[in-house]
Amino acid sequence: ANRKYIVGNWKMNGLNDQLSDIADIASIAANHPSVDAAICPPVTLIASAVSQNAAFSIGAQDCHFNEKGAHTGCVSAAMIKQAGASFSILGHSERRADQHETDADVKAKAEAVHANGLGAIICVGETEEERDAGQAVDVVCGQLQGSFPNGADAKWLTIAYEPVWAIGTGRVPEAADVEEMHAAIRQKLGELMGDGADAVRILYGGSMNGGNAAELLAVPNVDGGLVGGASLTAEKFGPIIEAA
Ligand code: 13P
Repeated sequence: ANRKYIVGNWKMNGLNDQLSDIADIASIAANHPSVDAAICPPVTLIASAVSQNAAFSIGAQDCHFNEKGAHTGCVSAAMIKQAGASFSILGHSERRADQHETDADVKAKAEAVHANGLGAIICVGETEEERDAGQAVDVVCGQLQGSFPNGADAKWLTIAYEPVWAIGTGRVPEAADVEEMHAAIRQKLGELMGDGADAVRILYGGSMNGGNAAELLAVPNVDGGLVGGASLTAEKFGPIIEAA
C-alpha cells in the first residue's frame, strides 16, 4: 500500500493571522511521520508558511501553464516554486467551473509544474447530474485521460477524486461508490502509464472530516484525502492526519 497523503486545500481562506494554524498543523504532522501531510494556503501565504515551517510541505492551489508573459493576475510554476511551494493542486472543480479550465489546460499546467521540479495533484470528479445519469465513471476517466500529463510518474503526480456534489455539502458517497471509482481510476492509470500506476496516490476529497476519515481512508485504492473546510484548523485537521 502507498503511504497516506493528507492534503489541506484552504481555497480562498487565510490571512496572516492564520499562519499560526499552519504551524499547529505542521507540529501534528511532525508527530505522525508515517503520514505525508501538506497544506495549500492562498498564494499570498506560501512564502511565510514555508519560512515558518521548514520541515512541512506547502503547496499552491493553481498556477498558469505558461512560463511568463502577459497574463494579468496569474502566477507561474517558477513563481510558486520560488515562494517555496513543493507542488500544486491543479484542475480543482471550482476552477474548472469558475475559471473555465479545460482538461487540456490542466494537462499543460501539470507539465509546467513538472518542468519546474514541482509535484502536481490533478483533480477530477463528476457532478450530481452526471452521477444520476450513470455517467460518473466515464466522466471521471475522461477527465483523467484529457488532463494526463506527458512524463507522468508517481514521484510527482497525484490524482484527487472529488465528486462535485460532495464538496462543501457534508454529503459523502457510499464507501462502495468510492471503491468503484478509485478502482476505475487505478485501471485507467494503468492504461495511461503502465506499471508505474500502482504507486500513484489517489486521494478522495469532498466533506472529509475527523468523523468519516478513517472509513474513507480504509477503502481500497484510497491513498489519502484532499480536505477543504476541515483543514483550516489543527483541531479539525489533526484528527484526519491521525486517522491516516
Ligand atoms: P470540503 O472538504 O470543504 O468539502 O472541500 C473539498 C475540496 O474541494 C478539497 O479540494
